[in-house]
Amino acid sequence: MKMCISRNIQGIQPSVTLAITAKAKAMKKAGVDVIALSAGEPDFNTPENIREAAIEAINRGFTKYTPAVGTPELREAICEKLKRENGLVYEPSQVIVSCGGKHSISLAIMALVERADEVIIPAPYWVSYPEQVKLAGGTPVILEAKKENGLKITPKQLRKAIGNRTKLLILNSPSNPSGVVYSEQEIKELARIVLEAGIYVLSDEIYEKIIYDGAVHHSIAAQDGMQEQTIVVNGVSKSYAMTGWRIGYAAGPQEIIQAMGKIQSQQTSNPCSVAQAAALEALTGPQESVEKMRKAFNERRKYIVQRLNSIQGLSCSVPQGAFYVFPDVSAFYGISMDGTRIDGSVALCDFLLEKEKVACVPGAGFGADNHIRLSYATSMQNIKHAMDRLERGLNRLLK
Ligand code: GLU
Repeated sequence: MKMCISRNIQGIQPSVTLAITAKAKAMKKAGVDVIALSAGEPDFNTPENIREAAIEAINRGFTKYTPAVGTPELREAICEKLKRENGLVYEPSQVIVSCGGKHSISLAIMALVERADEVIIPAPYWVSYPEQVKLAGGTPVILEAKKENGLKITPKQLRKAIGNRTKLLILNSPSNPSGVVYSEQEIKELARIVLEAGIYVLSDEIYEKIIYDGAVHHSIAAQDGMQEQTIVVNGVSKSYAMTGWRIGYAAGPQEIIQAMGKIQSQQTSNPCSVAQAAALEALTGPQESVEKMRKAFNERRKYIVQRLNSIQGLSCSVPQGAFYVFPDVSAFYGISMDGTRIDGSVALCDFLLEKEKVACVPGAGFGADNHIRLSYATSMQNIKHAMDRLERGLNRLLK
């Protein structure tokens, strides 16, 4: 029998973040005392007012199809949010609600990218960007954001990477996995090059509210002339602890949003009606819980960075946003233990999971093999125990 899976799919990697999270969960279920620092998912419950709005929606029978692109109320609320918080003016017809930020990103890429089109992706990148580009038949062009530049791409690098086939730049600030936040000046300089080149930007702003040390989020779409060339992607998953509800959204030029809507209408129909009602409450209801969660993440961030930097051989820069740390662990590469050589981030994560029962994500999945990603979206107690284990394991390697 001939191989039945399409060649397009054979070349796609499964999501490494989801795979490791599932593995840690399965180990836990089997009775293993694993601490998972793998999932990029707030450990808090969805705030009560949002849960109540969903229950109310179910009880009033809001359980039928909605327009494929989302309810008018939610699209209107998204327009208001974008105006209020990002200084961006959109009509509801320029907004689409999808089944999570990941889905919005995928729709935008599908709507824009065709065979042989190139998409510039700064590395470290979120694991799904290159795979989604490949799914659309495009070619990811990975642009290394260097350590000496604070893990940010420079305008010079961007200019050099843009060629005849470049269609899109994917920008993610605050960044998953590095936590890097681009300043307004940096955004301005990147925007200037994008405008000159006439390419599009997919601006993934899902971590905009999880930001520290006085850093400010700036949407590249707010730069003069950029709204026409930007698709802004955001969602309720991270800011409102709503990962499982699967509500993301995108705003951009009407033609592109319409194309995304066409794809969505053939793929999923509408995003879950009840989850849309919950998202409406998230965006329009009280916002105190967002700040409460941000403060808790900040405490954990400070603690985990300090613990990591006290481990011999490990160096961790201070993230300004999101809820990940992304330490450089390359000092441990080349070391062998119990017959296994640590030859990169995958082997190191395997070692940490097997010997110390701590689940981390290998930097290789993010295009940065010298690093591993740890999520601090878990309790302080878990983080403390995980750091003790990590320290013990890494010290053993150095002996
Ligand atoms: N964005 C989160 C992460 O990076 C969730 C997992 C995923 O969708 O890949 O861990």
